[in-house]
Amino acid sequence: MKALVKYARGVGNMEIREVPEPSPGFGEVKIEVKATGICGSDLHTYHGNIGIPMKLPVVTGHEFAGVVVEVGEGVEGIEVGERVTAETTFSTCGRCIHCLTGSYNLCLQRRGIGYWLNGAFAKYTVVPATRVHKLPDNVDFIGGALSEP
Ligand SMILES: [Zn+2]
Ligand SMILES: [Zn+2]
Repeated sequence: MKALVKYARGVGNMEIREVPEPSPGFGEVKIEVKATGICGSDLHTYHGNIGIPMKLPVVTGHEFAGVVVEVGEGVEGIEVGERVTAETTFSTCGRCIHCLTGSYNLCLQRRGIGYWLNGAFAKYTVVPATRVHKLPDNVDFIGGALSEP
């Protein structure tokens, strides 16, 4: 599939590349992306002055919405065909004060979708089921993508 990849640090160093289509691991959900917003931080990524930890090369894009096309083992309560969005947090330490008080988005060990793990400027993306939120019927994909900011 085609995806927008940041492949090296510095100014620019982004291009549309052919990358393997992802498949969901245990506890993960595969989503066909229908809309992805361009965040201010995506511009920082392009200009090479991003303050968020990145592991390159990576598929960028983190505010998105789409349709569930596959669920991994161990996933309950999310069905193929559902319209969803997802939080940008892929993983956290689980032990710091932020994690233990529910503000895991502030964890200093936080690894984000579109920075550390492949994101949503692509046809498909894979995220942890615990970060997925169903869209109400009256929220379209563009609105769903904007729920992250
Ligand atoms: Zn953002
Ligand atoms: Zn933490």
